[in-house]
Amino acid sequence: MEMLYSSTRSRQQVKASEAILKGLSEDGGLFVPDHIPALDKSLKELAGMTYQQVAYEVMKLYLTDFTEQELKSCIERAYDSKFDEASIVPLVEAGGVCYMELFHGPTIAFKDMALSILPHLMIASARKKHVEKEIVILTATSGDTGKAALAGFADVEGTRIVVFYPKNGVSPIQEKQMVTQKGKNTMVVGIHGNFDDAQTGVKKLFSDRKLEAEMAGKGFQFSSANSINIGRLVPQICYYVYTYGRLLGEGKLAEGELLNVVVPTGNFGNILAAFYAKHMGVPIGKLICASNENKVLYDFFRTGTYDRNREFVLTSSPSMDILVSSNLERLIYRIAGEDAARNQELMVALSGQGCYTITDGMREALSDFYGNYADEQETASQIRQLYGDCGYVMDTHTAVASAVYRKYVAETKDQTKTVIASTASPFKFTRSVMHAIDGKYDAMDDFALVDELARLANVKVPKAIEEIRTAPVLHENVCEVEEMEAVVRQFLGL
Ligand SMILES: *Cc1c(COP(=O)(O)O)cnc(C)c1O
Repeated sequence: MEMLYSSTRSRQQVKASEAILKGLSEDGGLFVPDHIPALDKSLKELAGMTYQQVAYEVMKLYLTDFTEQELKSCIERAYDSKFDEASIVPLVEAGGVCYMELFHGPTIAFKDMALSILPHLMIASARKKHVEKEIVILTATSGDTGKAALAGFADVEGTRIVVFYPKNGVSPIQEKQMVTQKGKNTMVVGIHGNFDDAQTGVKKLFSDRKLEAEMAGKGFQFSSANSINIGRLVPQICYYVYTYGRLLGEGKLAEGELLNVVVPTGNFGNILAAFYAKHMGVPIGKLICASNENKVLYDFFRTGTYDRNREFVLTSSPSMDILVSSNLERLIYRIAGEDAARNQELMVALSGQGCYTITDGMREALSDFYGNYADEQETASQIRQLYGDCGYVMDTHTAVASAVYRKYVAETKDQTKTVIASTASPFKFTRSVMHAIDGKYDAMDDFALVDELARLANVKVPKAIEEIRTAPVLHENVCEVEEMEAVVRQFLGL
């Protein structure tokens, strides 16, 4: 059955390849599949498959204008030895819960799960649509997307990539990873502003018709590697299906048994993928949405009002320092009965007044979700405690999820089996992680901390970290938010 993608703000429909190339719809809406397909293999069958095989079984249902060979070739190239675990997504038991480690890719954060395949999907889509223009990837990052997208697109023929990150809003390791990026087609720029400023600036460039026309004249077209791209959402569904299958295969779940998932959330992409997996037929129970002190989503789930009018807090989990969770729009559209006009009204209110309120009927449709948050202290003590109890060291984002899970259990007494999405390697946030374990580490430099962490956790320093230890800085651009357009123009020679 052919899958078409509708915009959340109009009735415009396109095929998967077009949605991937465009990123965002022209009306400013996000592309959503016109239905959520049911898995056509049983979970028992899926339980016996490799990650790559499961990925194919999931993605073929969404990317219906790709041939089997195209899709399999994209999957083979993405999930290969760039990952330091053959299983791609290892499951680790610690403190009575299962951690689904999504950080074994080339940049050691979960963004690799989607961004190692997106360039391949995009090139395949461009071929299919006979696109002759060079594709310019424009990305705003809260730290992890930027590096993962750079790694994915560096030196990919027919593409260029520009990444904007908040100059003072990412971890030292995250920044070093980005500014040492090689590749003639890459550009990395720090902005004086926060992630939302960067994201708003990028969205503005995307919807600038004059710029688009000028670029077309010079043989360029924009696309987005941000999590609004459906080519990122779809690959993220795969690991929920895979994880359920693995637990079933290992006898840790009985057939049909529910599994709760806890997801440290920022832009709402990862947890939305879990929601899709659930509606494809995976027996997922609660979708537990964990926020840090930027707790817009927690307030939303509690009150039905989404309100971004508040102070932006810089936390030790910077990839979740977000006040506008872009992917939530896809869920709003769905609970608004796929009514684009109604969704548009709410989104206009969000960009105008900075807030909107959903109806009681829409709130009822959110019963799959539970939201809570963890403050900085709760996050740090979670890291210290789990390390003390069993020697497992998790990163700050995962710790937010872990702390929220404890709150959920205390509040609901729900004993359903649970998996926590572990979204980054602790080595990516070494300073915060080591500080959480013991204040005595504060005086050590970043790479001494890396070595100490390897010793404490009894794991090898990941290759991604070894590589940046001595790598030269290749990108030193910093600009104001208002200068983002000029920077892009200069890079493209417009
Ligand atoms: C991006 C990111 C998140 C948030 O994921 P969303 O899909 O934006 O909700 C959480 N943790 C880490 C480490 C990330 O990089």
